[in-house]
Amino acid sequence: MRPSIPAFPHLFAPLRAGRHTLRNRTLMGSMHTGLEHLDGSTARLAAFYAERARGGAGLIATGGYAMNSEARLDEHGPMLATPEQADALRPIADAVHAEGGKIVLQVLHTGRYAKVGNLVGASGIPSPINRRLPRTLATEEVWRTIDDYVRCAELAVHAGFDGVEVMGSEGYLISQFSTTRCNDRSDEFGGSMENRHRLPVEIVRRTRERLGPQALIMYRLSALDLVDGGAPADEVTTLARAIEAAGADLINTGFGWHEAKVPTIAYLVPRAAFRAVGARIKRALKIPLILSNRINTPEVAEDIIASGDADMVSMARPFLADADFVRKAAAGRPQAINTCIACNQACLDFIFTGKPTSCLVNPRAGRELEFAAMPAPKAKRRVAVVGAGAAGLACAVTAAERGHAVTLFEAGPAIGGQLNLARAVPGKEEFHELLRYFDTRVAEQGVQLRLGARPTAAEIAAGGFDRVVVATGVRARRPDIAGIDHSKVVGYAELLSGRRSAGRRVAVIGAGGIGFDVAEYLLHAECDPAARPQPHEQSGGGGAANQFFADWGVDLAEHNPGGLREPRRPAPWRTVTLLQRRPNKPGTTLGLTTGWALRARLEQRGLKALSGCTYERIDDAGLHLLINGEPRLLEVDTVVVCAGQESEAGIADELRALGVEPAVIGGAELAAELDALRAIDQGTRLAMTF
Ligand code: NAP
Ligand code: SF4
Repeated sequence: MRPSIPAFPHLFAPLRAGRHTLRNRTLMGSMHTGLEHLDGSTARLAAFYAERARGGAGLIATGGYAMNSEARLDEHGPMLATPEQADALRPIADAVHAEGGKIVLQVLHTGRYAKVGNLVGASGIPSPINRRLPRTLATEEVWRTIDDYVRCAELAVHAGFDGVEVMGSEGYLISQFSTTRCNDRSDEFGGSMENRHRLPVEIVRRTRERLGPQALIMYRLSALDLVDGGAPADEVTTLARAIEAAGADLINTGFGWHEAKVPTIAYLVPRAAFRAVGARIKRALKIPLILSNRINTPEVAEDIIASGDADMVSMARPFLADADFVRKAAAGRPQAINTCIACNQACLDFIFTGKPTSCLVNPRAGRELEFAAMPAPKAKRRVAVVGAGAAGLACAVTAAERGHAVTLFEAGPAIGGQLNLARAVPGKEEFHELLRYFDTRVAEQGVQLRLGARPTAAEIAAGGFDRVVVATGVRARRPDIAGIDHSKVVGYAELLSGRRSAGRRVAVIGAGGIGFDVAEYLLHAECDPAARPQPHEQSGGGGAANQFFADWGVDLAEHNPGGLREPRRPAPWRTVTLLQRRPNKPGTTLGLTTGWALRARLEQRGLKALSGCTYERIDDAGLHLLINGEPRLLEVDTVVVCAGQESEAGIADELRALGVEPAVIGGAELAAELDALRAIDQGTRLAMTF
């Protein structure tokens, strides 16, 4: 890798941190991986981190390790408290060093967030996201906990890590001690600001004393708590300075506690939204400051560092999406980066449902050993893939990468299938990046792309292909409702593609993921897709970020402790009613860590939702329905149908009749609960068998 390139000169300038020189300004931020629970966890973690070090990450922070049993997030949470545990982690540090990388171990005490029986906290005040009641740590126990932090750091260095990250943000134990929100102590760890800061300052000071000058000490500061009773701006800056004086080499940033009601990393958050907060803290420090949250392209990273808002950027999920992020940027090929689209579907949502982390756009993430073990192809084959949606694209580019000659047929004028509809939804502009990535890979891997091509089964059968893959996707379901052909009825694809528009009073039939996306599209202030900010315009600050902060009640000036203010409540300019037949609350199928935010935003914009609907008919008056048996008329101008999909795979049967046995994947195989996650995973894995 070249030390500096013209395209991203600031990002690739080395950075001095303590006694270390980092090769560039990228930190792979700490993530819970869930790999620790699996058989052969050390080998899996070593492969996971080594791949990112090989890809050029300037510094890596591991997922959090507890320093004692009550600090763990749950009973299985990783812990580092004994020399034996340290020895077991040595292969991870060695593997990263073998790739020329540097790695610090994150020391994490989850405090009142812990899902363990003996959870502890600064006080007995429970968290709104944990039903368990914390026990207040006695004064001498706090001092013992500090010793445990220091011991954990010492063991990390013993295991070969370059140092530690002390986790002081996201509402974990240190945040709990630092703010009045959940610290009502009257000893030397409560009351005055100096007392509330004593825990993190003593941890860093004593860790430095014990480890000496060589070890890297990074502190993750809660830069903006986004909760009532959180720290005001001046306290955050004061803590940052105290941590610097205590001996930290780097200050990393975190935004929002886990219990905050403001999204901070989901796709709804504009890129680098919080850079102004980072810039303010940086001005108070001499040591380097690292900015985090929704930084996912080298262009944005370069802009942040070049502008002086931060010295380094932390990207966690972008390194799941592409282990080679840095190497590609350094080679001047940013268009080849598989960009994190901030969907959370296979990373955080997996972790919260007990599955090891992976990535929607990169199924290899977290499965490095499994993919590496897949046998290499025995011969070059001719492969036909019919359909260039998510499943077909993933299959075609992976097969081509494995050396096969791939022809990809697409009936439409462009690749992408349903992904093209997703990117029309406000806030989901990151899907543009996924299509750009596939476009680049199709070209680079030499896939023969035939756009506007609808080959017949006979043509495919006569084409001499060794493998045929049917990835023809789905067609929208048209429910059997009287009046479904009325002129006021619009399909979701017609609406999102801009072929049809909606009136001021709208009913949406179907409250799945697409029904909610359509509601967002309809209630968004700028309904015209052309008028919305494109990803490259969303570099933090400016229009998109200001609108986000106004909508969510974020006060960057932090006149109120925690950085909150009254959210903007725009008068709805359109009425939208979302309907479903089932009696339960709509929205249960949305992403675990993003759905709550989408629901909250739509409620704020006046979305009405009705369950238990029986659709009777659609006519000039509107939509006639029964709600739990009671007749009702919704006087609407437009009825948008989002009633799910059916598989479109007719060509598969025709091929079989001609003696060709195709593989059928994605929505063509199973329309129910299809999303890009399953499609990309299935397409990629199938191609690995060719
Ligand atoms: P979906 O999730 O299956 O929802 C379809 C909706 O239509 C349901 O509300 C269903 O509920 C209703 N419905 C089904 N058959 C009907 C009929 N014959 N008449 C009237 N209503 C009917 O499908 P989708 O919303 O089209 O989404 C497709 C896939 O994309 C899903 O897997 C989804 O998870 C995924 N997606 C995900 C996201 C995300 O945010 N993660 C966003 C968009 C799409 P009732 O039967 O109760 O009415
Ligand atoms: Fe990013 Fe989605 Fe992948 Fe998570 S699953 S790393 S949010 S693209």
